[in-house]
Amino acid sequence: MRVGQGFDAHRLVAGRPLVLCGVTIAHEKGLDGHSDADVAVHALIDALLGAAGLGDIGRHFPDSDPAYKGICSMALLSRVVQMLQARAGQVLNCDVTIVAQRPKIAPYIEEMARNLARALLVDADCVNVKATTTERMGYEGREEGISASAVTLVSFS
Ligand code: MG
Repeated sequence: MRVGQGFDAHRLVAGRPLVLCGVTIAHEKGLDGHSDADVAVHALIDALLGAAGLGDIGRHFPDSDPAYKGICSMALLSRVVQMLQARAGQVLNCDVTIVAQRPKIAPYIEEMARNLARALLVDADCVNVKATTTERMGYEGREEGISASAVTLVSFS
């Protein structure tokens, strides 16, 4: 069994949809980025790649590559799961933390966890998604951006 951890942050800007764990959330701003900028999925991808010793998201899906412009990050997550499968890797669990002052994430947590579980090919109880604020401190607290971190445990047979 191998553990992996990931972290990511994206800037909040007007005129972009806010997508977190594949859920589009109604909000006056969205996350800026080359893909759909799903910061939580990016953190999870880095955790999975870390567990497998496969580097990071930028190595596999470079933001200089037009093929990934606007791409749904859930599709990238599925590709990473395929990479793990090719190495006989099976996700045992993952734990994702989203740091955002606004909007309130709680109403979307269950749908987020379901989305991740489906992509990871695991039962829903193997996935935990949680959210916190920074009590208005720092860039998340000033609503300049949203960050996310993730930890996962992967077994390799
Ligand atoms: Mg990112």
